[in-house]
Amino acid sequence: MSGTIRDHIKSRVRLCFAFAIGGWLLIALGGALASSLPDSVPRAALPLAGFLLFGGSLLAMQWTVRCPKCKAKLGQTIAMPLAFSWGSGSKVNFCPFCGVNLDEPRPQPQAPAPSQNPIK
Ligand SMILES: [Zn+2]
Repeated sequence: MSGTIRDHIKSRVRLCFAFAIGGWLLIALGGALASSLPDSVPRAALPLAGFLLFGGSLLAMQWTVRCPKCKAKLGQTIAMPLAFSWGSGSKVNFCPFCGVNLDEPRPQPQAPAPSQNPIK
């Protein structure tokens, strides 16, 4: 995986946001679609599923949108302004916790080096 830290955070936020929109649509349209469901399915199933999807995606955004360098949760700070900034206006350039430049390449997860294997 390559790309900048900014791209990484943007893609995570937008993915969570897409699921949240889907959940919101299920809540909104679930009531209308419930009348066409078979009788074995409870009427509240679609809106409930939408609510769970919506809430789950918001929680996922809080938990999974993290700075790749310091692992701080960015969901409540810079995630939304970063993912949905179009055109002019001030732009978030640094992680508020560790100060890493968001346009730097994303750090790769460190795999243990084969020479450090203690079992050898
Ligand atoms: Zn950071």
